[in-house]
Amino acid sequence: MVDSVALLGSTGSIGTQTLDVARTHGVAVRALAANSDIATLEAQIREFRPALCAVADEDAARDLRVRVADTATRVLSGSDGVLDAARIDCGAVVNAIVGRAGLAPTIAAIEVGNTLALANKESLVCAGVRVMALAREKRVRILPVDSEHSAIFQCLQGAAGNKVRRVILTASGGPFRGMTRDALRTVTREDALRHPSWSMGAKITVDSATMMNKGLEFIEAMRLFDLEPQQISVVVHPQSVVHSAVEFEDGAVIAQLGTPDMRLPIQYALSYPERLPSPAPTLELAQYGALTFEEPDLDAFPALALAMRCAPLGDEVCGALNDANETAVAQFLSGEIAFYEIFERVNGAIAHIIRDM
Ligand code: NDP
Ligand code: MG
Repeated sequence: MVDSVALLGSTGSIGTQTLDVARTHGVAVRALAANSDIATLEAQIREFRPALCAVADEDAARDLRVRVADTATRVLSGSDGVLDAARIDCGAVVNAIVGRAGLAPTIAAIEVGNTLALANKESLVCAGVRVMALAREKRVRILPVDSEHSAIFQCLQGAAGNKVRRVILTASGGPFRGMTRDALRTVTREDALRHPSWSMGAKITVDSATMMNKGLEFIEAMRLFDLEPQQISVVVHPQSVVHSAVEFEDGAVIAQLGTPDMRLPIQYALSYPERLPSPAPTLELAQYGALTFEEPDLDAFPALALAMRCAPLGDEVCGALNDANETAVAQFLSGEIAFYEIFERVNGAIAHIIRDM
């Protein structure tokens, strides 16, 4: 287990679950970072006593500085402050920031040689080719936190250098699995935020509902494990028990199973190569009775197909896809556009880029 972490995005879903893991295993927290939720940051500072805390929002940083003036924690502000948190000397940087905002901290952590436990998949979508090359150059290990990629990474531990034939990336299918493209014209924000198996931040929950999340994960898997697009199959598995699998040359498929609880992949990224007891509930397969698998419906969920088309086209195209998606999801969450318009906006923004390539 690492002795210490810097936790970026500490107030979010992955951030607070990372602190659960840190609490359970006595991992020191050297730095915290978030955007603006200073009430949560104050409580985290008082419990974990980090050397520094970065708040991206300048006004919020000013307020937090007053609130924690009685502690030894130095409060930094702005995106430069977040980069300083990523550069602090520690066992691992956990990057759990949402969106493209996580990219610069990913690069900053790698530049100084910090091991990176990466939840921020957008880093690898926007600049995965560049990030992986930099990590190789700096000899920095990137440990996946995303459950599917952690599963693939775990399956590869027994590979003994053998070639991977294919990776099977599982998807829950989200709250709208089984619905037609037409039926999806009337779903609401509340419907989209009700994920059947995972409790997560709003952006990734909407991405799961459109299945763009699986598209982003397809790109993430290509970059992390150096795969060709034809080496990745997406399979819908609504129970979210098989977190992903790897097929080898002889046809043997090794999968990682577990209850849908992010504390397990978070902990593995921090304890690797060790395995330690986890607060996550244990898997009782008989309670599930059946595990089911089906092909994704690319007609109802065209975002997945679009991301799969962008995946081999490199950082620039995938970055444009990511940014168009972030904008559209924010517009959907603020009530400006309907659910089906998310895809229309993203497709409209990048169709011409793909066509011209
Ligand atoms: P949340 O929305 O719950 O949390 C996002 C975190 O990022 C918050 O701490 C937020 O701070 C912080 N943040 C936002 N913008 C900035 C910024 N500019 N600078 C610094 N901090 C910022 O998201 P999740 O925890 O759900 O997801 C985080 C990442 O992990 C995403 O990339 C997601 O795709 C990935 N992931 C999440 C999973 C999950 O189960 N939740 C599973 C797999 C991957 P504040 O609270 O102040 O706004
Ligand atoms: Mg995932």
